[in-house]
Amino acid sequence: SGGTHWLFGDQLGPHFVDPARGGPSRDTPLLMIEARSVFRRRRFHRAKAHLVLSAMRHRAAELGDRVRYVKADTYRQGLREAVGDGPVTVHHPTSHAAHAFVRSLPSVTVLPARGFLVTHDEFRGWAEGHGEKHLRQEDFYRWVRTTHDLLMEGDRPVGGRWNLDHDNRQPPPRGATGLGVPAAYRPRESDIDAEVRADLDRWSRDGHAEFVGEDAPRGFPATRREALAALRRFVEHRLATFGAYEDAVLAGDATMSHSLLSSSLNLGLLDPAECVERAEAQWRSGEVPLNSAEGFVRQIAGWREFVWHVYWYFGTRYRASNTLGHHEPLPDWFAELSPDGTEANCLTHVLEQVGTTGWTHHIPRLMILGSFALQRGWDPGAVTDWFHRSFVDGYDWVMVPNVVGMSQYADGGRMTTKPYTSGGAYIDRMSDFCGSCRYKPSVRVGEDACPFTAGYWNLLHRHRDRFEHNARMTQAVRGLDRLRDLDALLEQERGRRD
Ligand code: FAD
Ligand code: SF4
Repeated sequence: SGGTHWLFGDQLGPHFVDPARGGPSRDTPLLMIEARSVFRRRRFHRAKAHLVLSAMRHRAAELGDRVRYVKADTYRQGLREAVGDGPVTVHHPTSHAAHAFVRSLPSVTVLPARGFLVTHDEFRGWAEGHGEKHLRQEDFYRWVRTTHDLLMEGDRPVGGRWNLDHDNRQPPPRGATGLGVPAAYRPRESDIDAEVRADLDRWSRDGHAEFVGEDAPRGFPATRREALAALRRFVEHRLATFGAYEDAVLAGDATMSHSLLSSSLNLGLLDPAECVERAEAQWRSGEVPLNSAEGFVRQIAGWREFVWHVYWYFGTRYRASNTLGHHEPLPDWFAELSPDGTEANCLTHVLEQVGTTGWTHHIPRLMILGSFALQRGWDPGAVTDWFHRSFVDGYDWVMVPNVVGMSQYADGGRMTTKPYTSGGAYIDRMSDFCGSCRYKPSVRVGEDACPFTAGYWNLLHRHRDRFEHNARMTQAVRGLDRLRDLDALLEQERGRRD
């Protein structure tokens, strides 16, 4: 065709260069652009910057002569340098900003998105049949299961039920300090990692980039081969216990039975189809229980797909939603991932984990970090930025719905039925943090008051008018009337620092 095909830094797997799936032909030259301006625009966790650069450079090394790898200040400059005004194809990028940019260039043809099970058109068709107010992950997930024949027996779900959450959501085993499952895959660094580390050190010294979090040996896959090894290890050794302990948290076991595959999926190193097919095959061969296989399939074919499509479907203005009118800034200690700013044992632990690894599993994100931000009334846009920069798997498309919609309820319930937040009792049930905390989860006023318990009531009180009308919240809101110490609690929360 005479054109060049451009690969973004999150389009690194074989499914982004597959002519059989609408990608470029085998002799089309490829282009990758490492744009320094990305690091100037925002601070990143050191581990995230490392992972993204390492993955891009590893991919370029694999592709060899077929790819031109340009280091430029901006994408625009890189494109001009590499191809001038020549014709370029690119698969649909993953952020509104990048999409608007490629669409604005007359020489660029945008090909359909890759790396998801459902196309934009298919989603639109599904959504229009449901009405804006009723876009629910559970309905979407069942539709994906059916249309992609995942864990199905004819037109019925295997085992007769769509949702096995009832068997999941177990608290951690009593008295255990860890789940005792085989460790997750860990990659070994290469010469390319050493170069990346030297570059990041230099940029940081020269003031070209600023990072949060610590530098550490790379903990997540940077190549297709590493990502496949990580998938295999998870499916064969860790998937069996995934379901039961999906929501459980132990201070001494950061990864529990989770897959740690989010960064590989989001870099495009793994295709979601191969992940869910492997999990289903493992169940069909009798190696893992259904609640685990189904739980994992739900995360990927349900939640991940849903979040991707919600991001595009709700459009560019969704990010600025702030239904609850929350405007407080993040305190410095939180922004800097510094656990010294709080005495809450759960928060200290989780912040420290994010600082050292750039990752923590779903429940600490949702029910500890996100819930705390919601209760304190922090600005949802600032919270989104914070998650985006602090996590190795953070990208605009996945952060915006997860933070604005799911975690901060800033969209007023367009993607979830109620705010996800709780008092200390939930954290106490699902983790082992509270026993050694200076606060007590059952106490809401006074020296020992748990910030989550007090924060929970404070939040309900502030938004009573709105939450009262939510059928799933009325019960909780009525609980306010039984609190004889509510005035003292509100007074205490007004003065609270952490
Ligand atoms: P597992 O528990 O093993 O789950 C398997 C896979 O399911 C994940 O790898 C991921 O690809 C997918 N998945 C599960 N839940 C979600 C979800 N809600 N949205 C998208 N994918 C999902 N996930 C990201 O990939 N990037 C983010 O930036 C991100 N930010 C989040 C922010 C908040 C406030 C919350 C509540 C969740 C966020 N998530 C994000 C979703 C989820 O927490 C992570 O995908 C997960 O913890 C990653 O660890 P894992 O790979 O071990 O996941
Ligand atoms: Fe967290 Fe409250 Fe438990 Fe302390 S008592 S660990 S602050 S939930």
